[in-house]
Amino acid sequence: MLLYMPTKVYSENNCVKNHGKELASFGKKAMIVTGKHSARKNGSLQDVEDALKQENISYVIYDEIEENPSIETVMNARNIGLQEKIDFVIGIGGGSPLDASKAIALMIANPDETEEVLYEAKELSYLPVVCVPTTCGTGSEVTPYAILTIHKKRTKKSISHKIYPKLALLDAKYLKSMSREGIVNTCVDALAHLIESYLNTNSNELNRVYSREGLRMWAEFKEPLKENNITEDDYMKMLHASMVAGMAITHTGTSLPHGLSYPITYELGVPHGKAVGIFLGGYVENYQDQCEVKEVLHILGFENAVSFHTYMRELLGMVEVSEELMKANVQGLLANPAKLKNYPFSITKDELMGMLN
Ligand code: NAP
Ligand code: FE
Repeated sequence: MLLYMPTKVYSENNCVKNHGKELASFGKKAMIVTGKHSARKNGSLQDVEDALKQENISYVIYDEIEENPSIETVMNARNIGLQEKIDFVIGIGGGSPLDASKAIALMIANPDETEEVLYEAKELSYLPVVCVPTTCGTGSEVTPYAILTIHKKRTKKSISHKIYPKLALLDAKYLKSMSREGIVNTCVDALAHLIESYLNTNSNELNRVYSREGLRMWAEFKEPLKENNITEDDYMKMLHASMVAGMAITHTGTSLPHGLSYPITYELGVPHGKAVGIFLGGYVENYQDQCEVKEVLHILGFENAVSFHTYMRELLGMVEVSEELMKANVQGLLANPAKLKNYPFSITKDELMGMLN
């Protein structure tokens, strides 16, 4: 058993301002990597710019990161980062800018490599990465993963390199500008990380410290989330549950619901958390070791798998997926041993087809 969680995390009100001093240790010039709008609206970009000015660190802003970032976007940002001779990368936003910032940090540190290296098993260095999360789903601020869209393959895939952020600065106030849908979808992503980590080939008593604690936190806001009655305190719990869930999957990886979600997001544009969530009820109901399922549901405060499944359907609604797309999706998953290895049992085509909604 191994625990390895090297990211330094602070969480508090005015976190970026309070700990901006730590940025100076990463260099003299930063690249801020973010999406088109949200970081401006929720104040996170301003907070980071103020902290950099305070420390006399110059910076360039790359604010072109789209949802489910593509390899093309990463390479575009890499070119700018190289021209600007930056020393480190600060990702601000949801999982998309945070994941992109890791891949950009890798590509800038290896200017002679082409984009193919993203998916090659090769030991490479990368620039320091700082993350400021503004959604409560991916936990990317502590995970070593970066999931990119590969247009050539019409899907998404985690790059082969493990890139741990050096520093994560958490401030729950940034979540308040999220839409109801955004909060629901990202909370469901965190829940999926917790469940897929607990019910996983790689789970053990030591790394279940993370998934257990995250499930306990999730239980505390499951009713406010469903009733849309979210307090300040709940926002903080959501951010913390998401981060702890990230620590959980750092140790185990995700499992079938994540594997099934990527073509749904690519082909239908369903946001990541929702695309995962539509398989979560089915995953729990069909999981072969129902004793372990009971442990998960007990911590979450559900009586049984059916009541959990009903909660998920009410929270997310249904997503229409054509039989043709589901069949191709399942075939793709079954042909990919790397994606199946985290599921501790064998699984059939019909069982996978039945996991939807
Ligand atoms: P996201 O794709 O980063 O952002 C979704 C939308 O939310 C964007 O339109 C964004 O706007 C907006 N947004 C972000 N923060 C906001 C705020 N505080 N208020 C209002 N709007 C806000 O969403 P995400 O679900 O966090 O990330 C999904 C990505 O992470 C996927 O690519 C997924 O595969 C990946 N992921 C990574 C890991 C990991 O371990 N690294 C784990 C799970 C998922 P702007 O574009 O204007 O910023
Ligand atoms: Fe996820």
